[in-house]
Amino acid sequence: MTTVHNLGFPRIGAKRELKFALESYWKGEASRDQLKALGAQLRQRHWQNQQDLDFVPVGDFAFYDQVLDMSFTLGNLPERVRDFHGDALDNYFRVARGRSAQSTEHAACCGGVAAGEMTKWFDTNYHYIVPEFAADTTFKLDASRLVEQLAEARAQGVRAKPVIVGPVTYLALGKAKDDSDKLALLSRLLPVYADLLTTLAAQGVEWVQIDEPVLVTELAPEWQDAFRTAYAALARGPVKLLLATYFGQLQENLSLVAELPVQGVHLDAINARQEVAALIAKLPAGRVVSLGVINGRNIWKTDLDGVLDWLEPVAKQLGERLWIAPSCSLLHVPVDLNSEQKLDADVKSWLAFALQKLDELKVLAVALRQGRDAAKDALSANRAAIEARRNSPRVHNPAVKAAVDKITRVLGERQNAYGVRAPKQSALLKLPAFPTTTIGSFPQTAEIRHARSQFKAGALDATGYKQVMQAEIERSVREQEALGLDVLVHGEAERNDMVEYFGEQLQGYAFSQFGWVQSYGSRCVKPPILFGDISRPNAMTVEWIQYAQSLTAKPMKGMLTGPVTILNWSFVRDDQPRSVSCYQLALAIREEVLDLERAGISVIQIDEAALREGLPLRRAQWQEYLDWAVESFRITANGVRDETQIHTHMCYSEFNDIIKSIADMDADVITIETSRSDMELLDAFDNFKYPNEIGPGVYDIHSPNIPTQDHIVQLMRKAAERIPQERLWVNPDCGLKTRQWAEVIPALTNMVAAAKTLRGQ
Ligand code: GLN
Ligand code: ZN
Repeated sequence: MTTVHNLGFPRIGAKRELKFALESYWKGEASRDQLKALGAQLRQRHWQNQQDLDFVPVGDFAFYDQVLDMSFTLGNLPERVRDFHGDALDNYFRVARGRSAQSTEHAACCGGVAAGEMTKWFDTNYHYIVPEFAADTTFKLDASRLVEQLAEARAQGVRAKPVIVGPVTYLALGKAKDDSDKLALLSRLLPVYADLLTTLAAQGVEWVQIDEPVLVTELAPEWQDAFRTAYAALARGPVKLLLATYFGQLQENLSLVAELPVQGVHLDAINARQEVAALIAKLPAGRVVSLGVINGRNIWKTDLDGVLDWLEPVAKQLGERLWIAPSCSLLHVPVDLNSEQKLDADVKSWLAFALQKLDELKVLAVALRQGRDAAKDALSANRAAIEARRNSPRVHNPAVKAAVDKITRVLGERQNAYGVRAPKQSALLKLPAFPTTTIGSFPQTAEIRHARSQFKAGALDATGYKQVMQAEIERSVREQEALGLDVLVHGEAERNDMVEYFGEQLQGYAFSQFGWVQSYGSRCVKPPILFGDISRPNAMTVEWIQYAQSLTAKPMKGMLTGPVTILNWSFVRDDQPRSVSCYQLALAIREEVLDLERAGISVIQIDEAALREGLPLRRAQWQEYLDWAVESFRITANGVRDETQIHTHMCYSEFNDIIKSIADMDADVITIETSRSDMELLDAFDNFKYPNEIGPGVYDIHSPNIPTQDHIVQLMRKAAERIPQERLWVNPDCGLKTRQWAEVIPALTNMVAAAKTLRGQ
């Protein structure tokens, strides 16, 4: 009989209950007990949702982050929080957010501390708190969280399978603050893991899921050895271990996985279906093989017939040894499709969120255990949905496919090289040395937000809404003229989100109401759903930009979001390669670029904030991604004449490894984040001579601090050591929409003054 289980459930709640509870606790409006009770209630509800499974995950719930939970379980608290006098949960939030729950509590003795660093969880949009290590780090078990939650699960009568982050992945994800060798800590870490397993066994636990997703990445030999050492030590314990890998293929680590002395292995059979047979062949007899057959990262219904076609023979071969599950934790998908009342009916019928994915799993289990006939109705309903999507004219637009087929290299090429374009652009724009500009957005004021919500609620009509937005645009333009900036922006008042704004106007996109996915802590994102071939029925930004240009004699920069960023921040199609979806987006935005140019706009910025995020987990696959991502940008941007200046913006600072591809985009000007790293990131430009213009950000927009004129001059001088000064721009790190005008005006005043000082020298 096939065993059915789950690797993890979204904890934020179908209505984002956890988010709201956390935020009201942090504001001091709710008590700690109330927050804890809500946590227990969510766990209970989620186990209820999963009660038909043979095993439910326990320990996947976290108030902030599962990796931070693991740090507390292992007693690995950063030194700076160790002598906190208050409650443990508050201390946990101090590591996560840099302060205790209520800032007044313990303010004098042990209030604010530096927050833990946060980074992306593999190639997802989830961010975890990076464990901190030093040469003298020691570990000490605190199993209380898991023990308590196991007791809750027991009381509820579900069969619990605790989930923990495995020791090698835990070390790999952390950072040695003193640059010591993290791996040296393994021998200190393993006894604590062994204790933990013993403690769990004493709670009546049979199986523990031990997550080692780092196995889908390239591992140095010493890290492969760490796996052998770790699991040789842990295998002697009293529980059975299910070693869980996900997010990709094992490739050269497959033999390593097969030789580890664990009782079962979970493989992501969405991304690594081609490895199923090899893994089964290599695993010693008797081992459990858990296959992730439902996509835990996407929101489409599974083709259940298609899965059964390949899974039935595997089930026959494995018998009791086969377990099935989603490919990874369901943390990365929204909770319940049934909450959606406004979603287009066709699109809705093609989707499955977490609860619906569990239903699919159960149908598969019935079909495997009792034959497809026993699941006849569910299978035929699924078949109808899959076929409807496959053949829908809403999905397929022959004209768009034909346009993608016709793409050639020429489409992405500027008429002339930068050296020829640059003088033509300066003749037209007549900019001073060290020209100043901003990244696009100005503060999203209370008036803007109010008008938007009134408009959405129907209390404000389209004309009224447009008037409010135009007034905001005018305000931004007037402020920028008064500040003396050189290239102005309209301020993006009309945009709530840089992807959603475009998605709403493109054909092939749908929007959910409750399709929230946790991004970090209490923060969630609601990725738009790219379901069909992309086309642009009407111009999307031209009217706003034209209006802004009409208010000033200075150049007005047109602002667009690039195809790669739109793609990377959406749920995307699983029926065609990402590259094809990206090319479709590129063609649509290219039309917008050309329309802006025709409307007399001579500077156009195409933001690619998320280009780096799309890099595959394995370096070996980077180039292929970069090739189509860069080509998509080039198609979008490069149809303009020489005189039109193309800008792009990226809000991160690690460039070293992709600088060549960034140069290949051939934007005339690139603006990047640099102020926080003190221009360190410009190291990338030491070894690679970036050929075009650069605006290294000089104002950290994430901080309320106002940079001084001197500081900005210093930063720019550092930049001028690496980049010829005639190719430097002066601008903030990123958009200003989260700041107040009261901060923006003095900061930009200093920025403009700094540019003048630089020009004078
Ligand atoms: N143009 C956008 C803005 O200024 C860019 C935002 C971003 O890079 N994330 O808001
Ligand atoms: Zn940015």
